[in-house]
Amino acid sequence: MTLLNPVELTKKVRAVVCKDNLRKYYRFRNTKFYGGCATADCLGCNLRCIYCWSQKKVWKPRSFGQFYAPKEVATKFLSYKQPLVRISGGEPTLCRTHLIKVLELIPSSILFILETNGLLFDESYIRDLSKFTNLFVRVSLKGINDNTFQIITGAQGKYFSNQLKALQLLRQYKIQHRAAIIPDLFIQGDIANLDIKNIEYESLISYPFITKALEKKGIELPLK
Ligand code: SF4
Repeated sequence: MTLLNPVELTKKVRAVVCKDNLRKYYRFRNTKFYGGCATADCLGCNLRCIYCWSQKKVWKPRSFGQFYAPKEVATKFLSYKQPLVRISGGEPTLCRTHLIKVLELIPSSILFILETNGLLFDESYIRDLSKFTNLFVRVSLKGINDNTFQIITGAQGKYFSNQLKALQLLRQYKIQHRAAIIPDLFIQGDIANLDIKNIEYESLISYPFITKALEKKGIELPLK
């Protein structure tokens, strides 16, 4: 099986979804998540997770959506009059300049939830994000080690360390954050061994395509 290189995929996807300060999105909506949250669903990702619920659109960013300027995104967010906003769908960190500009346009009284796989976070990126006191970063962990990360994402296992490094940098720069993991996929003790203090459990939504994909790849749960 050929494993994808997320760094190479990032370059390719950025060429499609990021243009100067603009970024491609396919939907803006009011959601019930977090008790009521304005949500922007972006296109493009640098992973290919087996359970990705948004893959039909997110993995084909050329075919869907349109470009929005930071101001347009902020205006849409604020029009929902919610105390929380979030970028979801694909990977929001791909277009860094756009993301920072959107953050700058959201009043500090509104909590900005950034849902990310954290792969692109280096110290410079985290330093930029640390300016925003209303930011909450939720890093979705894709494995408990290199092997399980590889099975789930289709990407080279060594990039799992980027996720752990992201959490360490968020801690270091005192940015509000949490790790999220799907416990159904792993052995409980293995999750505990990661020794991550603030971790949240997500449920694996049993869409038929997820079950089929797991079966097709001969993947038996829990992963080790
Ligand atoms: S990181 Fe998220 S958006 Fe990207 S493939 Fe995985 S589940 Fe889908």
